[in-house]
Amino acid sequence: MPSDQLLQLVFATAHQAIAILDDQLRFVRVNQTYAAQGARPVEFFPGKRHFDLYPHAENEAIFRRVLATGEPFTVRAKPFEYPDQPERGTTWWDWTLDPIRGPDGRVTGLLLQLAEVTPHVVAQQRAVEAEARAAQAEKLEAVGLLAASVAHDVNNALTAILACAGMVLQDEELPERVAEDVHAIRDSAVRAGATTARMLAFSRRQVLQPRVVNLATLVAEMAVLQTRSAGERVRVVQRLDQDAPAVRVDPAQLETALTNLITNAVDAMRAGGGTLELIVQPRILTGEDTVAPPGRYSVLTVKDNGMGMDKATQKRAFEPFFTTKGPRGTGLGLPSVWGFVSQSGAFLSLDSAPGVGTSVSILFPAVEGRPDSVEKPGALPRRVGRVLLVDDDEGVRKAAQRLLTSAGHTVAVAASGQEAWEALDRDGFDVLITDLHMPGMQGGDLARRALARFPALRVVFISGYAEGAGLPDPEIPAALVAKPFDVTTLSNAVANVLATGAG
Ligand code: ADP
Ligand code: MG
Repeated sequence: MPSDQLLQLVFATAHQAIAILDDQLRFVRVNQTYAAQGARPVEFFPGKRHFDLYPHAENEAIFRRVLATGEPFTVRAKPFEYPDQPERGTTWWDWTLDPIRGPDGRVTGLLLQLAEVTPHVVAQQRAVEAEARAAQAEKLEAVGLLAASVAHDVNNALTAILACAGMVLQDEELPERVAEDVHAIRDSAVRAGATTARMLAFSRRQVLQPRVVNLATLVAEMAVLQTRSAGERVRVVQRLDQDAPAVRVDPAQLETALTNLITNAVDAMRAGGGTLELIVQPRILTGEDTVAPPGRYSVLTVKDNGMGMDKATQKRAFEPFFTTKGPRGTGLGLPSVWGFVSQSGAFLSLDSAPGVGTSVSILFPAVEGRPDSVEKPGALPRRVGRVLLVDDDEGVRKAAQRLLTSAGHTVAVAASGQEAWEALDRDGFDVLITDLHMPGMQGGDLARRALARFPALRVVFISGYAEGAGLPDPEIPAALVAKPFDVTTLSNAVANVLATGAG
């Protein structure tokens, strides 16, 4: 084969995109790969000016410099957007530019060689993002651990404060001035309890009681109250698709999360008003999506067209106590949503741009099965019983004992699972109230053993936080009360289990 034919063949088959330009930066010739990348036939290019087709001031300066100096130029992974192929988005290229010299050594043109490295760059970016996400998750985990242990101790103290305040307020002869003060004490404790609840939510250690629900129905019920508080300048639009698949979620905690998101959206539109959108829709994810693994989802989206967040704010938005709202903000809204979402086995995605708005989506994996029915609690018959109360915290023990005694129950206390086990064996009880987390025997184990022995026993768990999600054992029929509780919550729970036992 003659050598120019051979060169021809190499030029035509090369996987690199090759273009030869003259000293006016006009195409002399391009190979098949170059033409294909440009989505044009090979004959299209000769005679056209490179920078008429692909205007790019920076690149043009580089080309001219190589022409002027005769120094080759090499660059790796340089981004480029085809003006005539916007659908390709940003592409990345390794390229080299070599001078072509005439017989006298003068530079008469350029040889441009390009190799696309877009998939490689995208993979690298994904890896960097994944690493950043992992680092962020690790940081949140560490802070969460701290938050959980603080919240746990504070909850025990708050339980005692609330119970004692509740007891004092039951005294009908209480002077008004004293009652006012005690009300203030109670209200502060309730507010502090809301903070510890959010800290626990963030640390993914709140007690969840998930049910199979239709997300659209649930959100529709919640939205009625929620959106009333949005104010006059905010228009609320709901798009709730009843055909979105059923999901498993704790409705009460979902409502808290929704409140947090709506509050943020309304805050973001405070200045100019706007539209708040509540959307529930089905979505199927493929391997391409990075938000969550492939599969079927029901997605809840809260969207606003408020002030939006810049990149720096987005990066920190899920950090506990990060707020841009000054003393008005707690910085616990998004972190508690994040904790709830990940504890629920769901996924969170945030999309925001300054001046455009924010959209936060929670992706719940679809579950098989029909939504559980909810029975509305009726009025409880007031029954009293023999109660064994187990908690390792003395303040909680004392407070709960007084509270239940005043409700008419006969109350014995134990400071540990072991102590409780011995008491159970000795005396007969109708109700076992036990803390879930204690040194030594855990509440769940105690209940399991106790029920095996005394099947008629009713169980109420109290918990400062849950290590996993939900009750220790879904097989155990039990009520659950989260700390800090007030007078009515605990006595209602006891009345409830006694009523169901009446059969
Ligand atoms: P807080 O609302 O108490 O500030 P959050 O954790 O709920 O705490 O939110 C943290 C920060 O994230 C906010 O201070 C705000 O800067 C930003 N942010 C959250 N939601 C939105 C939103 N919908 N629009 C704009 N910024 C938001
Ligand atoms: Mg908030």
